Amino acid sequence: LVRKRILLGKLVEESLALIQPALGKNHIQLEQILDSGLDQEVEVDPDQIKQVILNILLNAVDAQEQGGVIELEEIEEEGFIGFAVSDEGTGISPEDMPFIYDPFFTTKEKGTGLGLSVVHRILDQHGGKIRTFNRPDRGVTVKILLPKVPVKD
Ligand code: ADP
Ligand code: MG
Repeated sequence: LVRKRILLGKLVEESLALIQPALGKNHIQLEQILDSGLDQEVEVDPDQIKQVILNILLNAVDAQEQGGVIELEEIEEEGFIGFAVSDEGTGISPEDMPFIYDPFFTTKEKGTGLGLSVVHRILDQHGGKIRTFNRPDRGVTVKILLPKVPVKD
């Protein structure tokens, strides 16, 4: 496993560039609620974490092909930094919720069901975490957290 110290914001930026065409095609607006948390470093395999971000964003796009807003917000928790992606899509039915991280579990006609299982494995390997829940109104929020790099002095 490759480990590099890198700004989380840089990984998010590079992933957003890859998803831009899909956003345009589906008339989806991206709202970034960023302060400074993503300017912190994480120690990760950059390509793997980009895969995480991309998979989460792609699921958000799949869930709201008719347009709307995807929100990207930076989050912080004791010892962890990360981001939350919130969509205005279909949401996840309570019966499906326990299975979304299982390999090959999909509710999509052309889905592989591999996205979230790969995301989960990558986060495990990085000591990170993922939480997925339905928003009160509509759509889903996915929270991704990675361990903060200890500050050396
Ligand atoms: P795939 O995208 O190929 O279906 P994933 O592992 O990425 O596989 O997702 C598994 C399932 O979790 C999806 O088929 C869908 O039912 C549900 N899911 C994941 N993210 C979202 C989301 N943002 N909105 C609605 N459902 C979602
Ligand atoms: Mg997916």
